[in-house]
Amino acid sequence: MHEEHKRAILERTRRIVVKLGSSILTTASGVNQEQVGRLSSELARLVDEGFQIVVVTSGARAAGLSRLGLTRVPKNIAEQQAAAAIGQIRLMAFYERFFSDFHKHVGQVLLTAADLQDRTRYLNAKRTFEHLLHHGIVPIVNENDSVAIDELKFGDNDRLSALVAGLVDADLLVMLSDVDGLYASDPSLGHSPLIEEVDDIDAWLESGAAGGAGSRVGTGGMKSKLLAARSAAHRGIPSIVASGTRAGTLARVVDPDDHTGTLFLPRGVTIPGRKHWIAYGLALRGELLLDAGAAEALTGRGSSLLAAGIREVRGSFARGDAVRCIAPSGVEIARGLVAYDSSECAKLCGQASARIQQLLGYHAGDEVIHRDDLVLLADSSAAQIARADATEVRGPANTLASGAQSDGKEEKHR
Ligand code: GLU
Repeated sequence: MHEEHKRAILERTRRIVVKLGSSILTTASGVNQEQVGRLSSELARLVDEGFQIVVVTSGARAAGLSRLGLTRVPKNIAEQQAAAAIGQIRLMAFYERFFSDFHKHVGQVLLTAADLQDRTRYLNAKRTFEHLLHHGIVPIVNENDSVAIDELKFGDNDRLSALVAGLVDADLLVMLSDVDGLYASDPSLGHSPLIEEVDDIDAWLESGAAGGAGSRVGTGGMKSKLLAARSAAHRGIPSIVASGTRAGTLARVVDPDDHTGTLFLPRGVTIPGRKHWIAYGLALRGELLLDAGAAEALTGRGSSLLAAGIREVRGSFARGDAVRCIAPSGVEIARGLVAYDSSECAKLCGQASARIQQLLGYHAGDEVIHRDDLVLLADSSAAQIARADATEVRGPANTLASGAQSDGKEEKHR
């Protein structure tokens, strides 16, 4: 089964986002030149084979630490940002040099979460990537750590890589670090088999098997890789998590017969670009706790969220912010953009839409979250499959036959 899936994925793979973790790119004294050189040559070979490659690199902070006399990422934000400023340019100098050995040019793209939260900037970034790839340049992306402020950070480059994969409509996301992939339990505590293929990422997240912590120098751990793989999968993009420490990793990753790492399959139902951006690209500012009727209307009928179905409002958010929708069971079932701010939502809780004008003194629509601005998170519901905004339905037989629909092709409906 694994070979079949991997073969089907690779047959349609042209554009790959490859995320390289800090632990494989740096040593205590700075950039691990040997590894950066080897990975650059492997990436250049993929370009020669006809793949379009976007690299998401970590390691800026770690590469800058030694110049500040540090061995660990400091707690102090200004110091972290200074380390990133020093390390980013060092890292890029090596990429530039190593890629040029293979007659390839690289372009640096530094992003902040704010860039991707603004739809216009998001679409501008998309055009920049298209342009670079069109010219055969390898974009090398990192978070703009030296200016990003804490509450507006991606947090880790796993998440950033999944967003970039969605942004560039990648066919495959590869996350390389110093772990071989996903294990059923912590491999340091005894023998645990490597999981070759994961279909239900949510089940793995819920099981807690992935743990949480990252490494000495990086921020991500297996949990952040699972979250990134889930985000990519919802966009129809499969992921492979593998170790990048051994020579030939990337050749193995694109070899259909090879079992390196863990393959995360894309979802049966995928969402278009704008909805992916709503669900995974935005900071979530609050929570709406729904009653059973509203939860059923959303998941079962693909309805908009009305005030009548909201039981409680948590957090402080403005109109247009992204929030989580929580079912009575406590499970987050959807995310969406609110038409009313948190204090207005609190006044509207449980009320009929006809009373909005009277309660608020104005009316910005009957829906608190319009279905066009709402993304269901659960995968398997038959109702979701029937939803008009589902771009396509892919069962096991045709699971990997084609990509997701791109931006701007969504139907408008209520
Ligand atoms: N952007 C950070 C850096 O380059 C890495 C974040 C991460 O470890 O995921 O240092």
